[in-house]
Amino acid sequence: MKKPAIIPRAYQQMLLDYGRRLLRDGLTTGTGGNLSVALRAQNIIAITPSGIDYDRLKIDDISLIDCDGLRLAGEKPSSEWHLHAALYQKRPEINAVVHTHSRFATTLALLHKPLPACHYLIGVAGCKEIRVAPYATFGTPELAEKTVTALGSNDRCILMANHGLIAIGSELEQAYNTALYIEEVAELYHRALTIGNPVILSDKEMEEALIRFQSYGRSAQITNAGTAPATQTGLFSPQISTLIRTFSCFFKPKITCKVLMRGQVPQPKQGLAARTQGHFRWSQISALIRTFSCFKTRK
Ligand SMILES: [Zn+2]
Repeated sequence: MKKPAIIPRAYQQMLLDYGRRLLRDGLTTGTGGNLSVALRAQNIIAITPSGIDYDRLKIDDISLIDCDGLRLAGEKPSSEWHLHAALYQKRPEINAVVHTHSRFATTLALLHKPLPACHYLIGVAGCKEIRVAPYATFGTPELAEKTVTALGSNDRCILMANHGLIAIGSELEQAYNTALYIEEVAELYHRALTIGNPVILSDKEMEEALIRFQSYGRSAQITNAGTAPATQTGLFSPQISTLIRTFSCFFKPKITCKVLMRGQVPQPKQGLAARTQGHFRWSQISALIRTFSCFKTRK
């Protein structure tokens, strides 16, 4: 079957949706942070505009620029377009960039303190710790150069000194989830530090985790921007994670997993996370939500 052509408007809608998710997930406030996707075949970068609140953003406000920052459509691009463009140039395998000033990651960035492997989820970024890129003034080519150099050729996330966090991915969902999970780990690390000294995973333990993350790394291709993917592999999207947690509150984990898994029977000795790793169909999850809602209403 012929693949549908991907048009910039679909990407603009996707950026609109993920921009609002930044607010919902507490990764930013007001106009903070910025998102972009690269349309490499057309040499276009779709990027959130400068100075417009995400909840007031309209699809036609999303900027389309070329690699030199020349505006082709939409409002004035984010002041950090240099950084986005430099990342796409240096890392040909990526197609999405997410930049936030999320609280806990930025707290570490203020201290110039890397986020160590206190939790295996650090591995979503393809590295054993989240390092800190040197400071430069926001919106400058100097900041772009320093950040891109510090990120190197493999890592997918880095803290920016006295500024925030940047995450990259082969698609927007991957970059966004990396930013989300790293913020979560940064919060856990901060909380753990307030009551003790968190144990840091060894190099060997993280190497094993990274190997497992490689097999999770291929998430569903975006064929229709702005809608949930038909299948979800590897790490769960926030909606599915929330659903699993919700179900877990009402049922024993084993029942929850049996309901949520497709054609796979959970093994008794596996942990909850292992048992819930599988392939889901969004339509099945939606049907479960509807069923569950009816059940709750009758009660
Ligand atoms: Zn910023």
